[in-house]
Amino acid sequence: MYIVLLGAPGAGKGTQAAMLVEAMGLVQVASGDLFRKALQQETELGKTAKLYMEKGQLVPDEITIKMVLERLGEPDCKKGVILDGFPRNIKQAMALDKALDEQSEGIDKAVYIKVTEGELIKRLGGRWVCRNCQTSYHETENPPKVTGKCDRCGGELYQRDDDKPETVRKRLEVYFAETAPLIEYYTKAGKLLEVNGEGSAAEVNKRLLAALS
Ligand code: ADP
Ligand code: ZN
Repeated sequence: MYIVLLGAPGAGKGTQAAMLVEAMGLVQVASGDLFRKALQQETELGKTAKLYMEKGQLVPDEITIKMVLERLGEPDCKKGVILDGFPRNIKQAMALDKALDEQSEGIDKAVYIKVTEGELIKRLGGRWVCRNCQTSYHETENPPKVTGKCDRCGGELYQRDDDKPETVRKRLEVYFAETAPLIEYYTKAGKLLEVNGEGSAAEVNKRLLAALS
């Protein structure tokens, strides 16, 4: 089973992916997390990705597609996958379809988590993420029980460099230009499900599970 999560930065893809992992026993493959891991480990991939990420731009397709397809080839992905942050443009979507098709597989559903632009900007501004398990919190909307500490694992919370206001604006611009066309792409393929992404994470998750069942 392959499920794609679509939505703008700040729509809650990461949070929902983690909840789906628990509810459905699938594996989460998040391209942004893979890049951040490479960046932390200072690999060649990480150094290249950094140049784009800090500007809010997409990392070149060739690099991104290779990285994600390699990850999908690992044994744990046989359980089924939730893709979060990939594909992010039509070229990546076509490369993914082709690679899955070659294994007689395919995307089952693409779930579009819809959130208004005003809400996105508000959410990205106060976002804090766990260094250890990537759970995200919001200063005012969804604060951790102890400031600076992850509720789930006790890890340290930090603010992503690319959550700075100028970079947030750029990421949203890139989203509307490059990623939003995927909504039509998956609609045409008969795979799109749309879920209202406003409200609490638990509410959104309920809607998402209902849409998928
Ligand atoms: P968000 O969805 O909140 O923007 P991500 O963690 O998914 O955050 O991505 C962070 C950054 O990593 C992006 O701004 C981009 O530079 C890079 N990135 C992640 N996924 C992709 C992708 N599929 N293609 C190109 N670049 C990507
Ligand atoms: Zn954590």
